[in-house]
Amino acid sequence: MFINTHLQQLRGHYLFTEIANRTKAYQQTHPEAHVLRLGIGDVTLPLPSVIIEAMHRAVDELASAATFRGYGPEEGYLWLRQAIVDNDYTPRGIHVSPEEVFISDGAGSDLGNLSELFDASNTVAILEPSYPAYVDTSRMAGREIIWLPCLAQNNFYPALPKQKADIIYLCFPNNPTGTVLTRDELSRWVEYARTNHSIILFDAAYEAFIEDPDVPHSIYEIEGAQEVAIEIRSFSKTAGFTAVRCGYTVVPKATSLQTMWLRRQCTKFNGASYISQRAAEATYTPEGKAAIQANLSYYKQTAQIFLEGLRTLGYEVFGGKNAPYIWCRVPHGYTSWSFFDHLLHTSQIVCTPGAGFGPTGEGFVRFSAFSNRKDVEEALKRMKKLA
Ligand code: PLP
Repeated sequence: MFINTHLQQLRGHYLFTEIANRTKAYQQTHPEAHVLRLGIGDVTLPLPSVIIEAMHRAVDELASAATFRGYGPEEGYLWLRQAIVDNDYTPRGIHVSPEEVFISDGAGSDLGNLSELFDASNTVAILEPSYPAYVDTSRMAGREIIWLPCLAQNNFYPALPKQKADIIYLCFPNNPTGTVLTRDELSRWVEYARTNHSIILFDAAYEAFIEDPDVPHSIYEIEGAQEVAIEIRSFSKTAGFTAVRCGYTVVPKATSLQTMWLRRQCTKFNGASYISQRAAEATYTPEGKAAIQANLSYYKQTAQIFLEGLRTLGYEVFGGKNAPYIWCRVPHGYTSWSFFDHLLHTSQIVCTPGAGFGPTGEGFVRFSAFSNRKDVEEALKRMKKLA
């Protein structure tokens, strides 16, 4: 037996495990402390009743012989795939067919699994800093990584790779920097992929936070993208499904990868849970849409309060508009982990150190607008005392 040495060589802890360990260690020595968790990008609002009711109905169906269901289609139920097409694509003038939509148990799984479509010899371009899954997945597969640094002086906008990249992970609105791309900017990536025969894996997990009309919600708003892009979406941040687990991936037939992905899913994935898919379907009802928008508005307002509050305290901040994350430069003399420790120990605030998203993230921390509003307000008060 020979183990996967690429996996073995991954750094010891996943970023959020390290944060959890440091927070736990602090809490063990300070059990009285009221720790404000403003780092991790997990939702905090409860699910709207229209979604809970849809899940209850689905559970009841499974309890009765007349309505019981076993395995569903590996690619997801047609009623959900059709609802996705009708609500997320057709209104934007994008033609996607339900056969091109694959329901998943969340974007995280697909972002890793899509790597199986491509030969190990492919190079992968990854924005840096980035959501850790792209890097870890590529390393597990032993691929060569082409880093695309995103720097403050460039507004965290990455330059196109100088050499040929076969696979390109793009994430916009971006986690962690909160950057977005305009239509023109995204068009350049599509053009690059078309010229170089690359494939773009477009992670649109934060699409629901876009407000600016010049920022595309889908890469398929760009002409020619259907031949060179796979789009990955999630109900996690749009509808608060981080526990429910449901997402979807669009693999256009024009990429010539749609049948291969179907084949892969049929062998390795027996479909997302029926209950989750009914919950996702409920997000497209009029009541579901209204409830989700109300929750999204709350998070967007929290982002504004957080952004303005930090700015007033003199921090240099980015993102927070069209995105739920605020990318904040740490004060002079700190690294991102030393500022993390400083905030935890002096103010009982947990943020996410930027260095955890890659070396270019050094000197920054990420705050999340998914945090409880009261906690954000309290954190700003505590940080004021630090100033
Ligand atoms: N993509 C990005 C950029 C994320 O930030 C996350 C989660 O935080 C995911 C994907 C994974 O989402 P899911 O809960 O659908 O697996």
